[in-house]
Amino acid sequence: MTDAATDHAELVSGLIGDRADAWDLAGELPRDLLVKLGASGVLCAQVGPEHGGTGLDSRAGGELTARVGARCSSLRSVMTSQGMAAWTVRRLGGTEQWDTFLPRLTSGDLAAVGFSEPGAGSDLSAMETEIADDGAEVVVSGRKVWITAAHYADLLLVFGKYRGGATAVVVPARTPGVRITRVENPLGCRAAGHANITLDAVRVPAGHVLGGTGLPLPLATTAALTYGRMSVAWGCVGILRACLDAAATHTASREQSGRALAEHQLVARHLAELYVAERHATRACEHASASWDTGSPDMAVDAVHAKYVASREAAQGAARAVQLLASAGASDGHVVARAYRDAKLMEVIEGTSEICQLVLARHMRKKVRP
Ligand SMILES: Cc1cc2nc3c(=O)[nH]c(=O)nc-3n(C[C@H](O)[C@H](O)[C@H](O)COP(=O)(O)OP(=O)(O)OC[C@H]3O[C@@H](n4cnc5c(N)ncnc54)[C@H](O)[C@@H]3O)c2cc1C
Repeated sequence: MTDAATDHAELVSGLIGDRADAWDLAGELPRDLLVKLGASGVLCAQVGPEHGGTGLDSRAGGELTARVGARCSSLRSVMTSQGMAAWTVRRLGGTEQWDTFLPRLTSGDLAAVGFSEPGAGSDLSAMETEIADDGAEVVVSGRKVWITAAHYADLLLVFGKYRGGATAVVVPARTPGVRITRVENPLGCRAAGHANITLDAVRVPAGHVLGGTGLPLPLATTAALTYGRMSVAWGCVGILRACLDAAATHTASREQSGRALAEHQLVARHLAELYVAERHATRACEHASASWDTGSPDMAVDAVHAKYVASREAAQGAARAVQLLASAGASDGHVVARAYRDAKLMEVIEGTSEICQLVLARHMRKKVRP
C-alpha cells in the first residue's frame, strides 16, 4: 500500500477497533465516526487532492477497501456508496459540478446512490423516476428502494429519465418532498443504513443535473456501477481475509479427538480452500484494478469479473468459516456469523451474480465472434 493508504487504513482500524459487531447488532454506525472519516477523505479516497481527496489509485484504494471490509462490511458499504457518488460526479458531471460537489464529499457530507426501484432491479431500463426541466430548476419524481447509506446521507445521487435519455441528479436529502424510510431488519450489512426513498415533485436547481443532458441509460449507469463493483469486490477480499484469520486461529487452538482441529485432514482441506478463495478473489481484484489504473478498454468487464468472483468466493468462504468454527461461530456477535450474512448480499448488489454471468458471457461471445 502507498503511505497515504497505510495512514488511512490505520486511521480506520483505530476508529473501528472491535466495535463492528456492536454496530451490526444495533443496526447503526456512529454518525460522528462517519463524518470524521468523510472529512478525512477516506470514504472516497480516489478523489484527487485538487478536490480535497488523497487521489489513491484503484489498487491502493482497493487494498484500503479490503482493510475496511475485513473489519466492518457496513462501513465498507457506506464507503462504496460515497466513492460511487464521487466517481459518478466525476464521470457524468462538468468541471463546475466537480468543484461544487466533490469538496463536499471529501469534507464530511455523506452520499447515497439510487438506481433501484420497486419495478426496476436487475432491469434498470424499467426505471420510472423522472427528472423534468422547469425553468431554472428540475423536478424529480419517483421511488428508489434499498439504497445503501441513504439513512445517513446528506446528498442523494438519483438516477432517472431525462430529456429522452437518463442521468443522475444531486438531491440534498433534506429537500422538501424527499422521504427516506429505513429498510427494516436487513439480512446483512445491518448498519449500512439501507433505506427506501420517495421523491414527490422534488425541486432542485437545474445545475444539479450531472452533465446537464440525457445519456443512453446503460452509459450513465455503467459509469457508477463499475466503481461500485470494484469496491464491493475488494470488500469481499476483506471478508475472506477476516474469515481466514478466524478459521486459522480457531482450528489451531481447539482440539478434538486428541489433536488440533487443523490437523484433521478434512478440516485442513477447508482451510486450504479458504486460502485459495482469498487468493483467487485478490487476483481478480488486482487484475481489475490494473485495468482501471491503465484505462484499459476492458475496465468495465474486468470489474464485473472481479465482483462476480470475489462475491462468490466470499459467500462460499464465509459459509466454510462458519462450518470450521461450528458452534463457536454460530451466533450473532461473531465475525464469521456476520461475514456469512454480509457476504451473501454481495452476490445480490451492484448486479446479481446471474446478471454478472450474462455480462461475462456476452463479452466472451463478442471476443470469439469471427
Ligand atoms: C444489501 C443491498 C444493498 C443495496 N444497495 C443499493 C444501492 O445503494 N443503490 C441501489 O440503487 N440499489 C441497491 N440495492 C438494490 C440492488 O441493486 C438490487 O437488489 C439488485 O439489482 C437486484 O434487483 P432485485 O432485488 O429487484 O432482484 P430481481 O431483479 O427481481 O432479481 C431476482 C432474481 O432473478 C434473477 N434475474 C433477474 N433478471 C434476470 C435475467 N435477465 N436473467 C437471469 N436472472 C435474472 C436475479 O439474478 C435474482 O436472482 C441493494 C440491495 C441490497 C440487497
